[in-house]
Amino acid sequence: MDKMIYQKELDYKYITDVFVAGGGAAGVAAAVAAARMGKEVYLAEASGCFGGLGTSGLVPAFAPFDDGVNILADGIGYEIRKKLKNAVPLRNWTTLDIEELKRVYDDTVTEAGIKFSFFTTVYDVIVKNNKIEGVVLGTKSGLIAVKAKIYIDCTGDGDLCAFGGGEYKKGDSDGNVMPPTLCSIWSGINKEECNEPWNKHVEQAFKDGVLSFEDRHIPGFFHGNDKISGGNIGHIFNTDPTDENQLTDGMIWGRKSMVEFENYFKKYFTGYQNLRLVSTASILGVRESRRIKCDYTLNVNDFINRSVFEDEIGRYCYPVDIHVMNTDKEEYERFSKEYITSLRYKNGESYGIPYRSLIPVSFKNALVAGRCIGTDRQMQASIRVMPGCFITGQAAGTAAALACEKEDVRKISTKELQKSLITLGAYLPNCSF
Ligand SMILES: Cc1cc2nc3c(=O)[nH]c(=O)nc-3n(C[C@H](O)[C@H](O)[C@H](O)COP(=O)(O)OP(=O)(O)OC[C@H]3O[C@@H](n4cnc5c(N)ncnc54)[C@H](O)[C@@H]3O)c2cc1C
Repeated sequence: MDKMIYQKELDYKYITDVFVAGGGAAGVAAAVAAARMGKEVYLAEASGCFGGLGTSGLVPAFAPFDDGVNILADGIGYEIRKKLKNAVPLRNWTTLDIEELKRVYDDTVTEAGIKFSFFTTVYDVIVKNNKIEGVVLGTKSGLIAVKAKIYIDCTGDGDLCAFGGGEYKKGDSDGNVMPPTLCSIWSGINKEECNEPWNKHVEQAFKDGVLSFEDRHIPGFFHGNDKISGGNIGHIFNTDPTDENQLTDGMIWGRKSMVEFENYFKKYFTGYQNLRLVSTASILGVRESRRIKCDYTLNVNDFINRSVFEDEIGRYCYPVDIHVMNTDKEEYERFSKEYITSLRYKNGESYGIPYRSLIPVSFKNALVAGRCIGTDRQMQASIRVMPGCFITGQAAGTAAALACEKEDVRKISTKELQKSLITLGAYLPNCSF
């Protein structure tokens, strides 16, 4: 293959204490936590708003912040949730008014005194002896360089670590990941009339050719107060979210498939006669991507054992939710059994998240937070929901602030980290000082 050698000298546009890549749930929590610890923070976000999948991706709801007894995602995440006018009592999903959520994120980041820019993407990472020396970002003004003492990867896909040559895993043993979904906004649903499961008529729809591909797993709609509903409908199989061509094909098929689903709901259900597709997301709803190899791999036995760790930075409880990997009936049965029965807690139960699962093995001065932390596949399918990402983001930001002086994330006291997290509101019932 022909090759191009590319070399360029860049001035550092920003020199800061903490650099955060990606401003989704994890990135916002990380940046705000570090700023509240008195550090200078620069946050680079690839899209035009904060919130990641919860805003640009039109994901329709916050998963529960609590285990039925305790608020697990307390602190910055819970503060954000409380600012939403729709915030329902705990133990429930919170349907998102996405425009409102964007403004809440804008205000939260701005009020924390964080430097940030939208439309700013990490493209390269310069590393020497396991230490990140700087990052190269793509912006509308061209390439810029940023230098920090500590770098936090909150890109969801682990871009910063991967572009720096860090170790990671992706998907199952063959590298296959859960299929993404192109989330959507709908109007015209009469929610009082909608009592049937969303997949009730799929077999008939496959026979009638109304649905041209066999997807038996339809998570469905979340209804707002104002006749607008958010849709989590349709799996886009065989899509690797780290391949731009597959992402492109996924977007195109996602948009087409929404027309099929519009016909499906109108034809077989009551309450959907006035259904109208208002919008699809501008990015694909990626459930699973790279998992960064960290000092500890949080694993399914930790879920089963309700593990407690000495270096715990939080606890969480969402069930293991590995969506269907293909269109087979048996695969849908596997999903239903696992999600509905086996790997699910009773009220008051949770697993611990150790600080070590946020420390990439490949670097001295980097941390990772959000859906790409150091886990096995099953645990990724639990921690990936937004409250889980707020917990790990808040911890990574706090740890980064403590690590600035020595520029080494392994040289902080975990007790001091836990004390600082408790001040922010984190749920850490197993810490004794
Ligand atoms: C279809 C679907 C439905 C879901 N449903 C729910 C639900 O109902 N409730 C729930 O709580 N969770 C749900 N989830 C999970 C949840 O939305 C995500 O896992 C969560 O938002 C991940 O947060 P994050 O901050 O780790 O990453 P993201 O939300 O992906 O945010 C990453 C951010 O980084 C930016 N970025 C990416 N690459 C770069 C780069 N190279 N440089 C700079 N910026 C970059 C992105 O633009 C984005 O803003 C769902 C997920 C999907 C896909």
